[in-house]
This record gives sequence, structure tokens and C-alpha cells, in this order.
Amino acid sequence: MTPKLRPEQSVTAVRGIGTQRAERLAQLDITTVQDLLNHVPVRYKDKREIRTSGEFVEGADTLAQGVLTSLRSRRTGSGRSLIEVRMRDPDGFFYISFFNSPYLERQLVKGAEYTVYGKVQFRNGLRLFTNPEIVPAGGDRDLRRIEPVYRCTAGVTTREFIKWITYALDNTEVTDWLSDTVRRERKLCELGTAYRNIHFPKDRHWYQVARYRMIYDQLLTYQIALRRSRLLRDDASTDASIPDADITPFLRSLPFELTSGQVDAVRDIEADLVSRRPMNRLVQGDVGSGKTVVAEAAIYKTVQAGRQAAFMAPTEILARQHFQKLSADFEPLGIRVALLVSGMRAQERRQILEETANGIIQVLIGTHALLQEDVVFQRLSLVITDEQHRFGVNQRRTLVGKGAANVLVMSATPIPRTLAATVYGDMDFSVIRTMPAGRIPIITRVVPKEARSKAYQAVLHELKQGNQGYVVAPAIEQDDESSLASAEELYQEMKRKFRGFRVEMIHGRLDKAEKESVMAAFARGEIRLLVSTVVIEVGIDVPGATIMVIENAERFGLAQLHQLRGRVGRSDKQSYCYLINHSNQEIAAERMRIMSEYTDGFAISEADYELRGAGDLMGTMQHGFNGSQILNLFKYEDILTLAGEDADRVMADPQLIDAAATDARIRNLGAGDNSDIL
Ligand code: ADP
Ligand code: MG
Repeated sequence: MTPKLRPEQSVTAVRGIGTQRAERLAQLDITTVQDLLNHVPVRYKDKREIRTSGEFVEGADTLAQGVLTSLRSRRTGSGRSLIEVRMRDPDGFFYISFFNSPYLERQLVKGAEYTVYGKVQFRNGLRLFTNPEIVPAGGDRDLRRIEPVYRCTAGVTTREFIKWITYALDNTEVTDWLSDTVRRERKLCELGTAYRNIHFPKDRHWYQVARYRMIYDQLLTYQIALRRSRLLRDDASTDASIPDADITPFLRSLPFELTSGQVDAVRDIEADLVSRRPMNRLVQGDVGSGKTVVAEAAIYKTVQAGRQAAFMAPTEILARQHFQKLSADFEPLGIRVALLVSGMRAQERRQILEETANGIIQVLIGTHALLQEDVVFQRLSLVITDEQHRFGVNQRRTLVGKGAANVLVMSATPIPRTLAATVYGDMDFSVIRTMPAGRIPIITRVVPKEARSKAYQAVLHELKQGNQGYVVAPAIEQDDESSLASAEELYQEMKRKFRGFRVEMIHGRLDKAEKESVMAAFARGEIRLLVSTVVIEVGIDVPGATIMVIENAERFGLAQLHQLRGRVGRSDKQSYCYLINHSNQEIAAERMRIMSEYTDGFAISEADYELRGAGDLMGTMQHGFNGSQILNLFKYEDILTLAGEDADRVMADPQLIDAAATDARIRNLGAGDNSDIL
């Protein structure tokens, strides 16, 4: 009898996970069995229904079955092995090409029946699969089921996740943190059932039930955390006020006038800073609305009052970028700015820590590392952060411990007022609706894939002018060799097309250091064209980039496209965004039209929401719920309301849920890069 696993045990307790795998999983913030169970699929492959070749849809992932009627093996011009197979099914024939899989020649048998899963393409009237999954029909490895696809990292595949999660599901004793009362009242399934069906849904109904429960749990956790955080903030014994100081000298030093939205936000912040109650303010403004200068005004006031400020960025690249900007703006005003990142020389680091502790450094910029214990400030009064790093309650406690009771969060995510109160219940709001005058709007053009070359002609034109560009490939779906191949192919194509210009690729499989070094070279202008999967950081500011081409633009969410597009148009030059639409579906065309018509993030997200409606079922988990995608909440408004009510009840009657489990869940909200769901 296998001993039962406990959720809080290390993942190494799962069969097949050793220290090496565990290290890789840690990159995904998975360290315990519980974390593994919480690693929900990003999407599913619905492999239940077999299509006959007459029903095939070009470009669609398809499950087919047929009898193998012929098999031919040869080498391609470039020396790769190629096996060409013809299959017969009730509607006729379909074809398969297997590249680089010579062993299949021995395994595949003429006259036998096989099940095939992959993307089907129409080539010269033939229906063709390239490197699909293939198994003998009816065998025990039959492909027919709903299969999860997981977010992966270097060296961990979906297949492994399936194995481990199956083991964890079969061996873990899951205790439900919700009492029967809550579960019954809200008609929620048991937690164990939810885990099983979120990973391996029996059918659509059970998937929905499980998903509902998972989302409810997340939102309830969050709502309770919010309430605790509010309690902490309203604690009258803290005094977060700083002496008043005049910011006019800073405003005078700027080469421009603030927009009216910026003026209002700065005024709100000034009032917060001099009041006793800790500031906890969210400044929301579209990409390019000029949030940084608002943050600078807050820092300036703090520093003039004799206090210190810290600026936290989600990544090192962004921290460096902020450092450059703030140094340039503040050094002339006699303000000392420093950067603290990992990998600094020990002596350099020691000096920075020392000067932070004795107050010589007035503004310290860095990543989450700023929260580490050995970083001690003399008089820290303000911490500024990005929405990706909304603090969990625990981190807030750390900050208050360091003296920084005032928190300012910058966000480009548009969120409707009705939801704002529930989502950011413990924060005050300043919304910047104005854009700096004189911006040249980005020209967005939608081109069908047949006309791709037009987009690349435009790229060539920009490169020749000395400008830089981005080419965005659809996200590498870590498991999916074919899409990895397509990003790689795209990269090779770009290198061929733009010979003479330095072209590099950045993608999710690179480790942190590799990514940073590529981004840094791009920022310095050494790399001229950057081929990328979606990992381009929100907030990255390379003014020399004037053109972006997004391949398979129809596969991205509109909010995502908007964020991506915001990477260009950051100088006084005209910028361009080409959206290459590879789909001929009407809805895709409509979404592309929205992108070319609107430049305002708010308008885009509303239009997107209307278009999507509530319709997409299996695809709903697509964007995952552990990313920091606030937009998802549009969809979960009803559950959010319930969770809010229940959180109020729990605050009054803690018996309703398990206290220890609640604390653990809340701790998890604040950990890691994107476990902070909101
Ligand atoms: P975001 O809100 O996306 O973070 P930034 O703060 O990076 O935007 O500002 C984008 C650009 O606009 C920067 O180059 C900044 O100097 C400039 N900018 C900010 N405010 C103004 C303004 N009031 N007038 C003109 N340019 C401005
Ligand atoms: Mg910014």
C-alpha cells in the first residue's frame, strides 16, 4: 500500500520527481504537492471526436482515424529523413509526413488502423498532417480523451506533468478547507473532485463544475486577504505621514507640462503622503500615458521631506531601465539614486546596502530583492511597484516593518469601476485618462498571411532608416514541438530576409540571464530586429523600435495585442504595427478591425469583452488563472460577488473555513512572480 501524500509535502515526494526536476519546477513556483495540484492546465486538447477526412477543417487540430495504405521513406534535399504515409478513411484519403522520425518506418504497418492527432493542412487539394501523434487505433494508448496542456519550463514537458499530476491525484489526501456549510450553500463540489476534473475532465459538465470551484477558492482567498490587509491599514496606531515639501522645482525641471490626468494623480498622491493614514494608491493609466513621471513626483516629494523611496520592478531589465531614467532626471537635482540587483560584486553590494542604511542613497531601485532582510533603510517612507507585484498582505507587513507605510502601484490594465472596488478593495484610485500631447499615433495595419511580405518590406524600410523592430511569433507552446519549430523557422526566415542586420530571438525556454542579455543588447541598439514569443516585458522601453510585426495576431487576446503594440511608438518618430491574420474566420477579422480602429486600451478591452461573451467553454482556462490577468475577472464577476459575501461572513465567523489552510493560501498569494492572481 502506497503511503498517502500530504499536500504540504515537497514535490520530491511524487514518484519521478528528483532534485533536478524539483529545481526546474521551482522556476514555475511549484515546490509542494499542493502547488503541483494547483498547476492547472492552460488549455485542453479535445481529442474525443474522430473527424473523417471530408469534415477536416484547414488548420484545425484534428483527430482522425484510418487504415495505412502506403508508406514511403526517403531523404529530403537537405538530408532530413522523411516518411510519407497515405491513410484511407470512410471519406477517402489523407496523408502524413513524418520528418526526422526514421524509427517509425519499422513501427508502422501497412493495412493496420491508426489514430492520428495533429493539425491538418490542405496542400494542393490533399489533406496533410505533419508530424502528428500517432497510435494504433483502439489500443490502450488510444488518443481519445480530453487532454490537459500545461505551462511548462525548460526541461519539463506536458507529458511529465500528466504523469506526476496523475500520481499526485491518486495518492494525495486532500482535505477540504471549506466547511460543508459553505460547500452546500454555494453548491460547490469537493476539493478533491475539483482537482481531478480540472486536470482530467470527465466531460464538459465536470470541467465546468471543477473550474467553478477552483475560481471560487481563488477569489475567496483573495477577498479574505483584502479584508485582512484593510484591517492592517486602518490600524490607527500607525502614522505614515511625511513632512510637507514643495515639488515645484521638480515640475520645473521637466521638459514638458503635465497632462491634466497627471496633475490630478500627483495631487492625490501629495495629499496621501502628508496624511497619517498609509497611502495605498493605484495609478491606472494606459500604456504611454506617462505614469513614470507621476511616480517621480511622489519620490521627489518624499526625498525632499528627508525620507527614502524604493522603486520595485518585476524584472531586472525593467529595474535597469527605471534606474537610467530616474538617474537622468534626479541627479541634476542633487538626488542620489542607486540600483540593487542580483549578481553584483559583493563589495559593490555592500556599499549600496551601507549607503542605504545611512541614508546617503535616497532612491533605491531594484527587483523583489529590495524586500530582503539585509536591505535596511534609514528612513524609508515610500515604495513604488508595478501591478505585477501587487503586494500580498505578508509583503505589506515586511514593508511596514522596513518603515515604508506608503505604497504606490502603477497599472496599465483597464478595469471597470464596478469591479475595481472588489478587486482593489483596499486601495484608492487615480486614473489618468489623458495622453501627452503631440504623440504620433501608431499606424496599425492588418494583413492577411498571403500579404505577409508587405509587412516585412516595411520592416526593411525601418531597419534601413536606422530604426529597430520586433517580430512577435505566437507563444511557444512548450510542449508543442510544431509551434516551437514555427518560432524557430520564423527566426531563420528573418535572418535570411534581413541579412546584414543583427537579428536575435528571445523565447520562454531561455533562462533568465540569457533573456536579460538579449534584451539589454536590444535596448543598446546592437540587436536591430528581435524575434520573440510573447515574453517581451510589459513596460520595456526601447525608443529606437518603430515597427512591430505580430504573426498569427488572431491567436492573441486583444489586451495582449494592445500591450505588445505599446512597445513601439515611444519616440517622436512614426511607428507601425502590422498584424498578420492567418485565419479566415469572421471573428478574427472583427477582432483585428478593433485593433486597427482603437488605440485606447479601455475601448479595446470593452470591445473584446463584448465579443467574447461567455461562450467559450473549453478554451476559457486558456489564459490561466495564476497569471496576473485582471481581465479574467470580467468573466468572474458573479463568483467574485459571492466570494466577497462569504469573505465577510468568514471574517465574522472563522469556523466556516479551516484557519491554517486559509493562512497558507494567503501566504501563497503573495509569493512568487505571478501567483498573485490579481
Ligand atoms: P507609461 O504610462 O506607459 O509608463 P511612460 O511614463 O513611460 O508611460 O511615459 C511615456 C513617455 O511619455 C516617456 O518618454 C515620457 O517622458 C513621456 N511623457 C510623460 N508625460 C508627458 C507629458 N506630460 N508630456 C509629454 N511627454 C510626456
Ligand atoms: Mg511604464
